[in-house]
Amino acid sequence: MPSPGRLGGAPAFLKTRSQGLLGEDARGCRVAASSLSLTGVKGETVNIERIENGIREVLAGFGEDALNPEVLANTPRRVAQMYAEFFSQLRVDPAEALGVVYDESYDEMIVLKDIPFFSICEHHLLPFMGTADVVYIPQGRRIVGASKLARVVDIAAARPQLQERLTSQIADALVERLDPLGVLVRLEATHLCMTLRGVKKAGSSMVTSALRGSFHKNPASRQEALSLIM
Ligand SMILES: [Zn+2]
Repeated sequence: MPSPGRLGGAPAFLKTRSQGLLGEDARGCRVAASSLSLTGVKGETVNIERIENGIREVLAGFGEDALNPEVLANTPRRVAQMYAEFFSQLRVDPAEALGVVYDESYDEMIVLKDIPFFSICEHHLLPFMGTADVVYIPQGRRIVGASKLARVVDIAAARPQLQERLTSQIADALVERLDPLGVLVRLEATHLCMTLRGVKKAGSSMVTSALRGSFHKNPASRQEALSLIM
């Protein structure tokens, strides 16, 4: 591992969470500890220092002679902080986002559609982005606020992901927390790993769905849900 000094001085602010303090970045700006090692609700963090060291190695692989010195000095830290932000919910259970459940006698379909989301594909660490539709049929007077449904999508997306798994995790969070009669989740997303590299199919999108309960068992109720979101 190259010594940080080689790159014009290690950013003094890069302290581990156990050191836990305010520090200074290369321009002397004060940076709050919370932005250095973003903390999930269970107190776990990503290791910013290790990510930074890894990115420094990636740049070395590109060839340090071909890169601007500013890039060598500051990009590893910027990228590490970016990943810390992207993956800030890495250890948060999406079901926790549903929080308070309202006691309300409503037993028809509830639909929240066109929820924008972005995530990072775990195969290439490139973004994929699109919209999510969430449909459920409550039972036992358990419903949640619409913003909580969007929050489940955000939390499940804030980690290295596969679109298929993301779709299932959103559906399973609702099942776990609300025990509804049925859940349907549909995601449509564009993957940069497919449009920028490999087969380079710009404009293509991938659709995934997860069906639980009555939407799984009953084609008529599934059709009704799909007609509401399509
Ligand atoms: Zn990918």
